[in-house]
Amino acid sequence: MKQSLYQVPEYNQEKINTAVAKIMKDQKVEKDLRPGMKVVIKPNLIMAKPTSIPATTHPMVVRAVALWLREKGITDITLAESSGGPYIADYMKNIYRVCGMASLSDVLTLNNDFSSKPVNTAEGFKNHSFNIITPIIEADYIINICKLKTHAMTGVSAGIKNLFGVIPGLEKPQLHYMWPDIEDFSNMLLEIARTVKPDLTIVDAIDAMEGNGPTGGTSHPLKLLLGAKDFYTQDYFATTLMQLDPNNIVMIRQAVERGLAHPDQIELCGDPIPEGLTQFQIPDSIKLDFSNFMPGPLGKAFAKIASKVLKSFPKVDKEKCVGCAKCAESCPQKIIKIKNKKAVFQRKGCISCFCCQEMCPAKAISVKKAL
Ligand code: SF4
Ligand code: SF4
Repeated sequence: MKQSLYQVPEYNQEKINTAVAKIMKDQKVEKDLRPGMKVVIKPNLIMAKPTSIPATTHPMVVRAVALWLREKGITDITLAESSGGPYIADYMKNIYRVCGMASLSDVLTLNNDFSSKPVNTAEGFKNHSFNIITPIIEADYIINICKLKTHAMTGVSAGIKNLFGVIPGLEKPQLHYMWPDIEDFSNMLLEIARTVKPDLTIVDAIDAMEGNGPTGGTSHPLKLLLGAKDFYTQDYFATTLMQLDPNNIVMIRQAVERGLAHPDQIELCGDPIPEGLTQFQIPDSIKLDFSNFMPGPLGKAFAKIASKVLKSFPKVDKEKCVGCAKCAESCPQKIIKIKNKKAVFQRKGCISCFCCQEMCPAKAISVKKAL
């Protein structure tokens, strides 16, 4: 498995263009391209956040990929994403604007087809089909450009997790509702990834997010762009760069167990791994459920017993809450109500998915443990 790694000290278009061209060469992307093919770029646009906050893919990375494709004669390039929140034109238009994607209309088309279709999965999958956004279904070639982040539920968000954004808007909470357990949810993410099968995955880790990701964390620049066709193994590798143990990230552990990720076959090309990398702060939700980070059978047994007493729940700061109801909209269990313009949470029924925290624009939701 060829893993590209290039050091990019800052968001500078020329430097990013150079690194992207090298990734494309290492990964032999040119030989995959045919005249007239439809290429879809799938960024991470989780919510309307400006580029100064490392929650979304930086537009300069998308521009570099689109420019490279155009240089190779590919002109049918669409940027497609379904953010958290409704998958409708007005909502997505605002996301494109705030996340800096609207400025890319000279090199690609911003998707404006907000339909989706059911796609059958392979035999033996627990999910027999997924409703997937149309441009992804119709693409001849998919380039997944994710942001490297910590994540309140899954621990890490990179190539695999980014593909959850092919599920249309408010259908995502339904999948959380269906698969509340982290093992089942991670399996579902892998089933989505195996259905979508992106052809190339680039990881924007020039600036990355630590702490309460995927939206409420803080900056932890790695000054790196990564690229690989095998995004399962790349996720494993990227997690090691965060100085976290990939075996503690359920979706990555499952990817290894199922023979999708091959960490023993990484062949690094490009720059050396930078020295002095420091550990990413993990989200409060995971810190509190520290049983996830205990190794082996002891960890599993302890996790079961401790899951109830150590379970973490969201807690709203009434001072910060602006009553926007985005948390209530995204809650799969429908246990959040807005009263007197403030969010009120009911603990009973909470599956600790932290979709509410992820979608809160005011950073008003923190994590509290049961005891
Ligand atoms: S309250 Fe928050 S953490 Fe609990 S189920 Fe709803 S979205 Fe998930
Ligand atoms: S999303 Fe945040 S600010 Fe909006 S109602 Fe919920 S807690 Fe309050």
